[in-house]
Amino acid sequence: KAEGKHGAKLFHADMDINYQHRQRLKFDLSQAVADQDLSLAFQPLIDLSTGKVVSCEALVRWTHPSLGVIPPSTFIPLAEEMGLISAITNLVLRQATRECSRWPAHIGVAVNISARDFRSGDVHQMVNRSLAEAGLAANRLELEVTETALIEHRESAIESLKAFAAQGIGISLDDFGTGYSSLSYLQALPFTKLKIDRSFLSDIVTDRRARNLLTNVARIGTDLNMCVLAEGVETEEQLQVLRDHSRVQQAQGYLFSRPLPARDVADFIRHFEAASRGEGEANLLHG
Ligand code: C2E
Ligand code: MG
Ligand code: MG
Ligand code: MG
Repeated sequence: KAEGKHGAKLFHADMDINYQHRQRLKFDLSQAVADQDLSLAFQPLIDLSTGKVVSCEALVRWTHPSLGVIPPSTFIPLAEEMGLISAITNLVLRQATRECSRWPAHIGVAVNISARDFRSGDVHQMVNRSLAEAGLAANRLELEVTETALIEHRESAIESLKAFAAQGIGISLDDFGTGYSSLSYLQALPFTKLKIDRSFLSDIVTDRRARNLLTNVARIGTDLNMCVLAEGVETEEQLQVLRDHSRVQQAQGYLFSRPLPARDVADFIRHFEAASRGEGEANLLHG
């Protein structure tokens, strides 16, 4: 056995280092979750016709004591493997609803739900306890799910999402267009919002075919009575294309704001809405 292990080291040195690194990250992550040592950043979602912030998406953040910032794309999959994800979801739900209860009443909060959350079965309890503790109305919460979640846990996901929707909670399909499932579930599920993945935006300024594709992806959403949002808007030129293709009602991206620390959200909302009011008046003045 010892020899076998030695052999593995000789022939798969890279894999082994990777393995050790992952084991360490996993150990430290479970510690961080136990100590509630994760924080949230919030990124605003903007309504393109009113220039108002509609809601803010909660994005979980982990700063490792010696390795620094670890992106969620690294640690969320680890948490899913370890069975830690529902503890993270719970933590995010509680912090996110608490923050939202301090914002103006027209602004909601969006929380990402993982595929595994549907398996554990207590996602309903977590959501409803968070809302109750924060004193937040159900219609100020949006839950974001990906196509993967729906493929992996189809039956339980459909049931859960229908129950949430019946409560008035918004249901967003995240990263739309990157999954591999058929489109039939779009009709079967109570989505209120379609979030078009940012990969669809990368070439829209220069490439007519990319613009056509975006328009038609957005049409899928509007035809099914969903609000359509474009993710990853980084430039004014991209925004202009989106405005000209008016089916996209909401947008999110670095152009408007990077994900913000919780304490900066209220100020951002105030400044952003004052600025877009000013812009509106200027537009009126100039005809
Ligand atoms: P997502 O839900 O699609 O979140 C949007 C991601 O795009 C965020 O990355 C955000 O920082 C990034 N982003 C926003 N605007 C732009 C832009 O203009 N350009 C570019 N290049 N990127 C932009 P982040 O925070 O690293 O999160 C990555 C993913 O990790 C999220 O994708 C989501 O799938 C997952 N995630 C984040 N927080 C949570 C959480 O609390 N729970 C779960 N289950 N997953 C989470
Ligand atoms: Mg999301
Ligand atoms: Mg997304
Ligand atoms: Mg994404």
